[in-house]
Amino acid sequence: MRQFTYVLLLASVCYGSTAWADCRNTQDFGTWLNNFKQEAIGTGLSAEVVNQALDGVTLDQSVIQRDRSQEVFAQTFLEFAGKKVSSYRLSNGQKQMQANAKLFQRIEQEYGVPAPMLTALWALETDLGAVTGDYPTLRSLATLAYDCRRPERFRPELIHALWLVQKGDQTPASMRGAWAGELGQLQFLPSGYNQQGVDFDGDGHRDLIRSKADALASAANLLRHHGWQAGQPWLVEVKVPREMDWSKARLDNRLPLSEWSAMGVTEADGDPLRPNGQAALLLPMGRNGPAFLAFANFDAIRQWNESTVYATTAAYLATRFAGAKPLYAGNAPVQKLSISQVRQLQSQLAARGLPVGKMDGIIGEDTRNAVRQAQQQLGLPADGYPDMVLLNKL
Ligand code: CA
Repeated sequence: MRQFTYVLLLASVCYGSTAWADCRNTQDFGTWLNNFKQEAIGTGLSAEVVNQALDGVTLDQSVIQRDRSQEVFAQTFLEFAGKKVSSYRLSNGQKQMQANAKLFQRIEQEYGVPAPMLTALWALETDLGAVTGDYPTLRSLATLAYDCRRPERFRPELIHALWLVQKGDQTPASMRGAWAGELGQLQFLPSGYNQQGVDFDGDGHRDLIRSKADALASAANLLRHHGWQAGQPWLVEVKVPREMDWSKARLDNRLPLSEWSAMGVTEADGDPLRPNGQAALLLPMGRNGPAFLAFANFDAIRQWNESTVYATTAAYLATRFAGAKPLYAGNAPVQKLSISQVRQLQSQLAARGLPVGKMDGIIGEDTRNAVRQAQQQLGLPADGYPDMVLLNKL
């Protein structure tokens, strides 16, 4: 997982555990910071860089408040995509693809990731570089690394941020971004920045904040690192029949397109599928909602952000930039369960011995798999998407 904020907003953080939210810091920040400096120097960072970067850094109470007061809210794919795939974003993205055509071409040659995919992530992360955040990154990360809630996630990020200073990619003052430490036009965490960031404009520094070329090429490099295959599709909208074996529709079940075709799956406009490799049938809102074939490259997008809703939206937006038509919203309106109903469902599934992951009210992949098994046990269409019929039967 690369990012914190989207995941917090969309996917998987459990705030049911009050002990976590109420944890206490026993050490004062100054003492902690001094100890941390020694730890950082122990990783090979120079004492000069560490002291220059961290001297005078103070705790940012507003960051702790933001981290502790985030509400979990669950949006369906159609709700999230409806907000994010706007005509404004589509036309601005297209303009950027044209204006930077040569750059995108060079990036695709080098990393194999095409312009529509990169533009979709660029649009979702920062509105194409417009909104990158203004929090001092070292202060935010030091605050979150000190705080008792998730130090194990943020201490390594702070170390990576210090390496960015030592390597000359950023200065302590130039590193400003989102409140939880994401940086630049594609909102990289310092770990991703340090490990997969590249200098693509050739000035000798990896500047993922100010250099569009560096930021976009780094995103391509990260996707390639996650297994992106050049020249391969990532997502295609399809139409599903009224009835089929819905249990086959799961992300870990990639089948030849000829098999989906034999089951009655067609292109979105009803034309027969053109056999083209293997894909999973992705039903982000169950059998009545939109339907897609997700190819191996979709898994690389899921590693960018583990939320299926985010990944599906990014992949779909990329198909629009590549010329696909607006999506067909499915066969019927899909009823939405509230977060508390999903929590209730999760506890009932768990009580039946079906693992649901965190009981957070969010319909993640574990919950979908448990729902599918319960639907099979109860003789319901096993599309892995929960509804009131299932909740009542449980
Ligand atoms: Ca550069």
